Amino acid sequence: MTQDQQSQYNETFPDGVTEPEYELYGRGEHAVDVDPAGVFADVPDEDAEYRQRAREFSLTEVAPIIDDYWDRADYPLQLVRRLGELDLLRDGVNLDGFPHQSRLAAGLVNMELARVDASVATIVGVQGALALRSVADKGSQEQVERWARPMATGELPGAFALTEPTHGSDSVGLGTRATRVSGGWVLNGEKKWIGNGSLGPQLGLEAASVVWARDDDGDVRGFVVDQASPGYSAETITGKLALRAIWQAHITLKNMFVPDDALLADARSFKDTSQVLFATRLGVAWSAVGAAMGAYETAVAYAKQREQFGRPLASSQIVNERLARMQSEMVQIQLLARHCERLEAAGALTGPQASLAKYSSTRAARSIAANARDLLGGNGILIGNRAARHFADVEALHTYEGTETVQALLIGRSVTGKSTFTG
Ligand SMILES: Cc1cc2nc3c(=O)[nH]c(=O)nc-3n(C[C@H](O)[C@H](O)[C@H](O)COP(=O)(O)OP(=O)(O)OC[C@H]3O[C@@H](n4cnc5c(N)ncnc54)[C@H](O)[C@@H]3O)c2cc1C
Repeated sequence: MTQDQQSQYNETFPDGVTEPEYELYGRGEHAVDVDPAGVFADVPDEDAEYRQRAREFSLTEVAPIIDDYWDRADYPLQLVRRLGELDLLRDGVNLDGFPHQSRLAAGLVNMELARVDASVATIVGVQGALALRSVADKGSQEQVERWARPMATGELPGAFALTEPTHGSDSVGLGTRATRVSGGWVLNGEKKWIGNGSLGPQLGLEAASVVWARDDDGDVRGFVVDQASPGYSAETITGKLALRAIWQAHITLKNMFVPDDALLADARSFKDTSQVLFATRLGVAWSAVGAAMGAYETAVAYAKQREQFGRPLASSQIVNERLARMQSEMVQIQLLARHCERLEAAGALTGPQASLAKYSSTRAARSIAANARDLLGGNGILIGNRAARHFADVEALHTYEGTETVQALLIGRSVTGKSTFTG
């Protein structure tokens, strides 16, 4: 650029051309009402307190760092400890010495964490909902003391290793073997997609995995194992486009000896594994509700601040219609989650109802996140603007703990009485 051209530019744009800084977390004057139908208006104080704690933690400790970790596919491990310190890790599993945490409180925590970042909600899903719950519900008192308690406080990362490279939706067909030997068991097999499964081998941390394996009689048993055990190796899965701020592992178990006291006393068949999974299915629905709220909040905040054609996007009728549609989808899944949580609290939630909640919630979240991503235009594909992260992350929620199709098959079976999983 010549000096003349430069001065002409400076005269025309004395302050340069600066795009405003958008406030996309709905803070301060840009606050967005994410409960327009008042679905959470009657939440009891003790549950609302858990929700508020998760909200504050998400805004002050997660939001400022998460884009960077997500971008680098790094694991913000310090947050595991913080989640434990704030008692946000238990997913409603009640242990002696901890305050009572209701299923509603657990759902609201899950929702608020996912509202800001679904990787962080998934840390709780893996460590609290799956690993800790397996030990608390299926283990002995000694196992609870040794493993579940430090998982609850965030001192011990925990993993739940069920899925295998060749057994995903049909995890019931798992092929990992547990062979009885003197004084314990020898485990052989491979596990794929295991959140927190590589923290021991890769970072040298003390970490545990709940491993599901088939014994000599063909029954599925659960073992809680130290990831430092000889024979346990794990690689972090790289190249993911979703949930980049938590690591999943491909685990190989080669002639890994585990003592008798690693066996979860009450995990005797796949029915026991299923009970743990059933208890967490609604949790994934809550995560999807949270991600949907986060995407909606981002879209509303952006539409009010971004100007095109001399007016905010929010002044366009079609944008209003889109926001109304997103709100409608969001409120429907908020209502469904709350309704199912009430059924669950009363011990009345059925498998098909839990499947319906997961199926409906991740579908709606996917639609809302796609709409939000589009509403942010080019900014919508930049990680730093929230929408892209939610858009990518809901893909994983849609798939894990029973894909959309698997939930549909479960719902369908309850409608028609026909199981259509095979042939
Ligand atoms: C980010 C992430 C985290 C995870 N964390 C864990 C974890 O911590 N621990 C763990 O054990 N597992 C974990 N999983 C595994 C997860 O539960 C599986 O990915 C899921 O159950 C699907 O299995 P799959 O990926 O092998 O897909 P597949 O089972 O191979 O399915 C592929 C496609 O086929 C469809 N399909 C499958 N069967 C049928 C059928 N009978 N009829 C019609 N369609 C069918 C599916 O819906 C899907 O669309 C995680 C997965 C992801 C992606």
